[in-house]
Amino acid sequence: MSKLRKAAKGRQCQIRITCVCNGDSETTVLAHYRMSGLCGTGTKPSDFVGAHACSACHDQVDGRSKPLYPKDKLRLWHLEGVVRTLSQLEKEGLVGAK
Ligand SMILES: [Zn+2]
Repeated sequence: MSKLRKAAKGRQCQIRITCVCNGDSETTVLAHYRMSGLCGTGTKPSDFVGAHACSACHDQVDGRSKPLYPKDKLRLWHLEGVVRTLSQLEKEGLVGAK
């Protein structure tokens, strides 16, 4: 398991979808943001482009649970989760140039 995947354990959810998020840090994993150009067939997405996500938010953004919001909204919130996660990890020195 990579350093960044390990760092997701026990964290607060950073996607926080209203009426979806379970707020249970025990279920938090690194939810990869998938987009063309970053991953393809047989290519694993980078652990750098991921959000700390509880199991409920993770299921929404990855389409495993019935979507409660339009897809573009879910994409935006997932992406915002990635940004929040990265800024948190940067503060801790886990990512970045330092
Ligand atoms: Zn959540």
